[in-house]
Amino acid sequence: MHRFAQMEKISLYGLSENEIYVLLEPYGFSSANAHELAVNIYKRRYRSFDDFIKIPERLRSVLKSDFCTGYSEFVDSYKSDDNTVKYLFRTDDGRQFEAVYIPDGKRHTVCVSTQSGCRMGCMFCVSGSFGFHGNLEVSEILNQVLGIPPSELITHVVFMGMGEPLDNFENVVRAVKALTAQWGMALSPVHVTVSTVGIKDAFSSFLLQSDCNLTLSLHSPFPDERLQFIPAEKRNPFNDVLAEMKRAILRKGRRLSVAYIMIEGLNDTERHLNELIVLLKDTGIRVNLLPYHSAGNNNLMPSSAEKLHYFKHSLVIAGISASVRKSRGEDIAAACGLLAARLAGRRC
Ligand code: SF4
Repeated sequence: MHRFAQMEKISLYGLSENEIYVLLEPYGFSSANAHELAVNIYKRRYRSFDDFIKIPERLRSVLKSDFCTGYSEFVDSYKSDDNTVKYLFRTDDGRQFEAVYIPDGKRHTVCVSTQSGCRMGCMFCVSGSFGFHGNLEVSEILNQVLGIPPSELITHVVFMGMGEPLDNFENVVRAVKALTAQWGMALSPVHVTVSTVGIKDAFSSFLLQSDCNLTLSLHSPFPDERLQFIPAEKRNPFNDVLAEMKRAILRKGRRLSVAYIMIEGLNDTERHLNELIVLLKDTGIRVNLLPYHSAGNNNLMPSSAEKLHYFKHSLVIAGISASVRKSRGEDIAAACGLLAARLAGRRC
């Protein structure tokens, strides 16, 4: 539960209908009142208590005095030529984080952050070099969906922005519940994807506690090479996480995937392709191939489009479901953590 430090008000974003009822019951309000509050927040996406409908005036006064919705306006936004929009937010104490809205036909995705910065230090990621500035509250995570202008259009949510979601486990689990529960936004769990480097114990718990999709950031099928890209490999060997994924009993439609950012000469050789096939054949685990976005602080180059499609084709021929993800919003630095990191760089 997020209490705003200065105002000492309780934020409703992230609370279940029942939790709202438990808080309101001492004031003499009913479970039906709690239900209407949840509908006003999560379904109607109202951000001000003045706009709430179907609630008694006395409840509105209590809300204004002791609660806040959790809504907080973005501080800046950048629109790409391809209509991707990046929203920059600040926490009450000034830490930056960002969300990216990606429209694609009938599909409207928002990519959310779970931390300001990140402590995982992955080699190719700007969020890592931005440093770690703390976990986001559940209300701050949900505000990236509920508090952006296209909120009512959102069909998909991906946890692929700044931060390692499973390093902020409790708040991410609560956020996913609010996104997928009937009392919440009621998105299909298979329209919500959490992407992780694979924090071992948290991964197992998350598999059990949620029905949403999970993506493991793999980037090399060889442990010693992956360790160079992702220091978390040392304590969280991907082979253990993959074994967990292979054992998982999945609800219909739920998808487990690996993400594979392709970097020229580094992880895009025949040796890598063959080992990927050995690792993933007959597992049902899907491969998302992504072009590398240059972070500007190294000499790494993206693999060619031909190489990405060659990998995809070869994986599919081997019976492994694979896709190439389109690059979106490159002109506004829409890759993970790029905008906040660049702005922070400008400030210094
Ligand atoms: S890739 Fe993800 S886990 Fe790794 S540093 Fe970036 S934000 Fe953190």
